[in-house]
Amino acid sequence: METEDIFLAAPLPAPQPTPGCLVCGALMEQWQQTRMPNSPQYDPSLSTDCAVEIGRHPHEVLKQRQKKQRETEENEERARRARRRKN
Ligand SMILES: [Zn+2]
Repeated sequence: METEDIFLAAPLPAPQPTPGCLVCGALMEQWQQTRMPNSPQYDPSLSTDCAVEIGRHPHEVLKQRQKKQRETEENEERARRARRRKN
């Protein structure tokens, strides 16, 4: 009985949201609201679902967008440097 109590009280590992991802941010907020026993939104199974969803959320689109953004900035920087050389 005692071991079961310890098992139930064991905190879930904190999910690792991806910085800059709005979906992860929203899930993280929901996870925090649902994991607190004294919170009105307390819902341990929903809390677990949120943590799982954060862990599974794909970020290929976000990564591609960030890569594209970096490339655009690099190209602009290159163009700036080329203009400077010309002058
Ligand atoms: Zn995400």
